[in-house]
Amino acid sequence: MTAVAAALAAEARTPDGTWRHFIDGAWADSADGGRFEVVNPADGTPVAVVAAAGAGDVDAAVGAARRSFDSGRWRSKSPQSRASALLRLAHVVKGRAAELAAVETQCNGMPLRDAKAMVKRCVSSLEYASGFAQRAYGQSIPVADRYLDVTLREPIGVCALIVPWNGPLISALWKLGPAIVLGNSAVLKPSELTPLSALLLAQCCQEAGIPPGVVNVIAGGPAAGAELVAHPLVDKIAFTGSTATGKAIMKVASEHVKRVTLELGGKAPNIFFEDVEISDAVPAALSGLMRNTGQTCIAGARMLVHTSRYDEFVERLIAAAGRLRVGPPVAESSQLGPLVSAVQLARVQGYVRLAREEGADVHGGGLLEGEGYLGGNYMAPGLITGAGNELRVNQEEIFGPIGAVLPFSDEEEAVAIANATPYGLAAGVWTRDVKRALRVTRGIRAGTVWVNTYGWNFVEAPMGGFKESGLGRENGSAVIDAYTETKNVVLELDDASLDIYGLSEPR
Ligand code: NAD
Repeated sequence: MTAVAAALAAEARTPDGTWRHFIDGAWADSADGGRFEVVNPADGTPVAVVAAAGAGDVDAAVGAARRSFDSGRWRSKSPQSRASALLRLAHVVKGRAAELAAVETQCNGMPLRDAKAMVKRCVSSLEYASGFAQRAYGQSIPVADRYLDVTLREPIGVCALIVPWNGPLISALWKLGPAIVLGNSAVLKPSELTPLSALLLAQCCQEAGIPPGVVNVIAGGPAAGAELVAHPLVDKIAFTGSTATGKAIMKVASEHVKRVTLELGGKAPNIFFEDVEISDAVPAALSGLMRNTGQTCIAGARMLVHTSRYDEFVERLIAAAGRLRVGPPVAESSQLGPLVSAVQLARVQGYVRLAREEGADVHGGGLLEGEGYLGGNYMAPGLITGAGNELRVNQEEIFGPIGAVLPFSDEEEAVAIANATPYGLAAGVWTRDVKRALRVTRGIRAGTVWVNTYGWNFVEAPMGGFKESGLGRENGSAVIDAYTETKNVVLELDDASLDIYGLSEPR
């Protein structure tokens, strides 16, 4: 038994060791016996076999969520009681931090110390979300004197939470915490590449005493996700993943006018003006690009550098990228790990070839296959120069440890290049000139702009995309909009009856 499997309760696995779904407070095998294997991207070894949800399992999970919602046994609890439940969940997750981090590293390949830091952020995010139960205020609206008009915030119903592989637990909890604390019931579907942390999370929910049916977790791939999105008893879909999948989900959701929030792809510009200190700018650029081995939606993948500093910047950037330590994610010394899968590695390598075919230069970016890398999906960090912003490598999300450096000559051109992609998730601006920083920040069409820093997503602040990077916001008080409906209530205060047709008869 692997250390990962040891973390899971015995009933959460079948006699042959397969990880089960968590539906209606109990562990369940797939109705049709479907299975898939999870592989460690660091060495290609099998990590676990997991039950694959088919249509029957999706239906069972949605049915359980529906019943728990419609019965009112969760949503009618006092806000304080739901908040306390979330705090208990935070406590259980904290207690299982080491196992959750180990699972995340084994499935995703992220360096273990990054996984540990991420689990800490998960705990904070649950603690923060707990407060929303008691702060989902309505409004009292000034209207004509004879009426009282107030709004109520009510849970939406059954929320389908679909998340990707690059930050599996945190992208799940950014949804699950607010969704349930505000009285909704949820069906969580993690990525088929990284399902284990979500299944462990189900066990945490059980331990924290979240009632059956409120949190259901099913494992499976795109087919299970599509079943979930199309299910008529689902009221809301909260999705993080690629823009292509987000568009497909939006189409299906329109059938029943389901509520949708989407956190999609990005191609973030990170802009360095001529007044930056190059010795600070170079590590900042690589920090913005290479986190999670470049597999983040906010990766600063287009580094825009003023022409007067371009050559110096590129030379030092290439040298610094060569000093990044790529290695097994469990090794303390590793700064970058493997890519999540062989498919993802092949995709990213495809972009390395494409950049060259498009006439650009690629520095680094080769496969790493020797000792220490055997069986894993490793590549060296890469930098692209000589590629115009219109080329595919600068327009499409690559999602790997590779980014391009592009020159610009003035502020106007920097903003124009920054905005010239279909995405609008994030951006960075580096300059000591405060006025310029603010002008550029205003000019950029993106959901987050960092000034003289990069990559911080505080749970207290809204996160989301402009343009094709998404719809709606996660985190901050935006979660109240994301997981509640607004009900307007109008009360007549006068004794007069409502009779617009003059039909009243004398009493
Ligand atoms: P993906 O879109 O392929 O898959 C995401 C999830 O959706 C997975 O659970 C998958 O099984 C499921 N899925 C796939 N097809 C589906 C369908 N037709 N209907 C319903 N569900 C479906 O994305 P990925 O490759 O797992 O993740 C990488 C992508 O996620 C990148 O584009 C990245 O930018 C994006 N991302 C965005 C954010 C953000 O906050 N904006 C954060 C992290 C990742």
